[in-house]
Amino acid sequence: MTNTIKLFQYNTLGALMAGLYEGTMTIGELLTHGDLGVGTLDSIDGELIVLDGKAYQAKGDKTITELSDDIKVPYAAVVPHQAEVVFKQRFSATDSELKERMESYFDGQNLFRSIKIHATFSKMHVRMIPRAKEGTRFVEVSQNQPEYEIENTTGTIVGIWTPEMFHGVSVAGYHLHYITDDFTFGGHVLDFTINDGEIEIGAIDQLEQSFPVQDRKYLFAKLNVDELKKDIDIAE
Ligand SMILES: [Zn+2]
Repeated sequence: MTNTIKLFQYNTLGALMAGLYEGTMTIGELLTHGDLGVGTLDSIDGELIVLDGKAYQAKGDKTITELSDDIKVPYAAVVPHQAEVVFKQRFSATDSELKERMESYFDGQNLFRSIKIHATFSKMHVRMIPRAKEGTRFVEVSQNQPEYEIENTTGTIVGIWTPEMFHGVSVAGYHLHYITDDFTFGGHVLDFTINDGEIEIGAIDQLEQSFPVQDRKYLFAKLNVDELKKDIDIAE
């Protein structure tokens, strides 16, 4: 019998979009639920990258920090990644070309997937969400986010592919973060061109949705769901 692979999601992207930025789960606890994933930090101070069981913060000043267990996050999604499909990309392709190839291996469009791509990229375009005050809408913060494009870089893309019907809980489609092999550069992936590399697609059987039940701001927040979904489309 195969084991059940569970995607662990802490808080919802919708709540983050509404400006609930306070970190309420520790990295230490988060990492007990998975070894690969994405998220953000307290006060949305950059991008969270979880790779091979370690957590890193990519900030707008182009620094990468490995995070200790006591650091808290407001939003994250991690999974004990297990490759189900592995293939090699041997020729240059844009991100949309590669995604089309990846999706040809999906069994339908209704299951989450974990994604891990180790490759050289002739182009990698990322953003790092800048630190912001609680209550500022994410979409407003994202209008002034640092973006960087680097060339000829080797590293790993990690992330989650979410089915359309879960849009709002998470981002429908790809949510990918990048970190270089030498841990000097990374961020939330906007677009890229892959040279060659290895792509792993992981199956996900279950979703565990965890909520910040001790956070009164979350509990009593009045959320405009339609607006939040639109914000996700713009900001993510
Ligand atoms: Zn992200």
